[in-house]
Amino acid sequence: ARAREAEQRSLPAQTRDGHRIDIGANINLPEQAALALSQGAEGVGLMRTEFLFLERGSTPSEDEQYQTYTAMAAALGGRPLIIRALDIGGDKQVAHLDLPREDNPFLGVRGARLLLRRADLLEPQLRALYRAARDGAALSIMFPMITSVPEIITLRQICERIRVALAAPVVPVGIMIEVPAAAIQADALARHADFFSIGTNDLTQYVLAIDRQNPELAAEADSLHPAVLRLIRMTVDGAARHQRWVGVCGGLAGDPFGAMLLAGLGVQELSMTPRDIAAVKARLRSVDQSALRDLAERALSADTAADVRALEPSA
Ligand code: PEP
Ligand code: MG
Repeated sequence: ARAREAEQRSLPAQTRDGHRIDIGANINLPEQAALALSQGAEGVGLMRTEFLFLERGSTPSEDEQYQTYTAMAAALGGRPLIIRALDIGGDKQVAHLDLPREDNPFLGVRGARLLLRRADLLEPQLRALYRAARDGAALSIMFPMITSVPEIITLRQICERIRVALAAPVVPVGIMIEVPAAAIQADALARHADFFSIGTNDLTQYVLAIDRQNPELAAEADSLHPAVLRLIRMTVDGAARHQRWVGVCGGLAGDPFGAMLLAGLGVQELSMTPRDIAAVKARLRSVDQSALRDLAERALSADTAADVRALEPSA
């Protein structure tokens, strides 16, 4: 049975009618790569680099970051690796950075907003990333909490300046879609981003106006809320207009039912905690993409998350 399970995990997430979804792992450390691959990951769809800062109580140097990114790429042996630039603020408070206290940190200087104000954090990280790319690491850079077109234009200009200075190769630069404004304006952002990865944790929080950490409202903070799904559809449509691919790296991707819906909505990659991979693959392999498209259409016109959850793909 063990051998069968391992074999199942290594199969692609391909529907019965031959539609393939790419499967990534959300991991933060090179030491986690081997386990993620053994659980069926085809790459890393989200490496949250803030953990390098959160876990140690000091800011890692450019060299230390370079070593970590290089080690992660090496551990993946050329498989895709999406490294997210620092996403600090909101629920990820870093004491040693001594940032100003905010009344509403989730609505404050977090993610890209902080990066654009703190060249001392952004530039060493980008240098470390481009040095790793220059050594052959097959990495992509992703920016969190993008809300507007000028943010990504400015960040890309900084990337390009650093890349040229280091004589490093071009690497894909993508953005997280996790603010409603970004989903609504996905067509405009797609002009400037090589790919999108939807962060359903924050997107759900911001669409429903529910603090993602509030236990009292945890049941209502449901990513299957049709309003969230409609924004995911807008994101996929906006990306398609500029031939960009769309992944999902929020929690919805690791839920087998959520994964079916996302595939039906036209998402091409799902990235999740490694332990969720086997169940997601098994579910996607048991259905037809045509049935998932139909499932997604019915979900978009449902009234409630509960109604969405009660839907079943047609046989
Ligand atoms: C998300 O918001 O869905 C996401 C993947 O990012 P994080 O959970 O790190 O905020
Ligand atoms: Mg997020």
